[in-house]
Amino acid sequence: MSLLVVGTVAFDAIETPFGKTDKIVGGAASYISLAASYFYRNIHLVSVVGDDFPQTFLNTLTGVGVDLQGLQIKKGEKSFFWAGKYHNDLNSRDTLETQLNVLATFDPVVPDNCKAPDFLMLGNLTPEVQQKVIKQLTAKPKLIVLDTMNFWMDIAMDELKKTIAMIDVLTINDSEARQLSGEYSLVKAAQKILKMGPKTLVIKKGEHGALLFNKDEVFFAPALPLEDVYDPTGAGDSFAGGFIGYLAKTKDISFENMKRAIIFGSAMASFTVEKFGTERLIGLTQKDVDERVQEFIDLVQFDISLV
Ligand code: AMP
Repeated sequence: MSLLVVGTVAFDAIETPFGKTDKIVGGAASYISLAASYFYRNIHLVSVVGDDFPQTFLNTLTGVGVDLQGLQIKKGEKSFFWAGKYHNDLNSRDTLETQLNVLATFDPVVPDNCKAPDFLMLGNLTPEVQQKVIKQLTAKPKLIVLDTMNFWMDIAMDELKKTIAMIDVLTINDSEARQLSGEYSLVKAAQKILKMGPKTLVIKKGEHGALLFNKDEVFFAPALPLEDVYDPTGAGDSFAGGFIGYLAKTKDISFENMKRAIIFGSAMASFTVEKFGTERLIGLTQKDVDERVQEFIDLVQFDISLV
């Protein structure tokens, strides 16, 4: 059993109403791998960085069982850089800058030891790169999950739709679901998106939780009302990491188990937002994770008798 994770490993500069950071470590695949590592350890990463990227963070990834054979380190080049500014409600943000740098010419090479993963998590990056990874696999994974964002919808919608046609589960936020489908109602948007290829769709709604759809069913997971939210960056990726990490651990891809998986995903996202960058996702204990999941259970458990 193995989990292959693809996505950016990057530098971010973040501005929220609570503060501002210079370049800190971020990237979709960084958050995904860290979050997934709390559930599952046989993780392989395919990504690219420049030689400006800190070895200490790469050591942190290896320390939680992430195999970095598929991480290309480009000499004399710069890592992907993203700068974003959150609005006062923290639910929406503006991208201030995206410097593709090493990502602009990235040609992914999946190492031989992970060409037949059971689970594939295609985190946010160029849709063409996501396709190239799928094409290098020697066996069809049990489950392919894809996360993406409005940036790729704006500049590469056709390529993105081709990637979407190749996957099983799509995770996007509410405004991206509207952009992708052209529908305002999220129910109509889900119906349209499920016709594009994926059998399952997760629509993330920030502090308003997440919806899980398949053709016939829908399920809702709340977000935990938190006292302190500092930085929502990476919440979606941490969600995806918790989601696929739990599915890989339990080896069960039924809709019933995906309901549990989105609770674990939401729990990992709730940690991420409590500090800037990846800081809060490093060094959690099993007890921290269990207690957080219990808070979700307590939040929504109620008894109603209709007779
Ligand atoms: P999230 O807040 O979950 O949407 O993810 C934020 C992370 O995505 C940041 O750490 C960024 O480095 C990364 N990111 C931002 N823009 C892009 C992009 N266009 N492609 C890939 N990753 C991106």
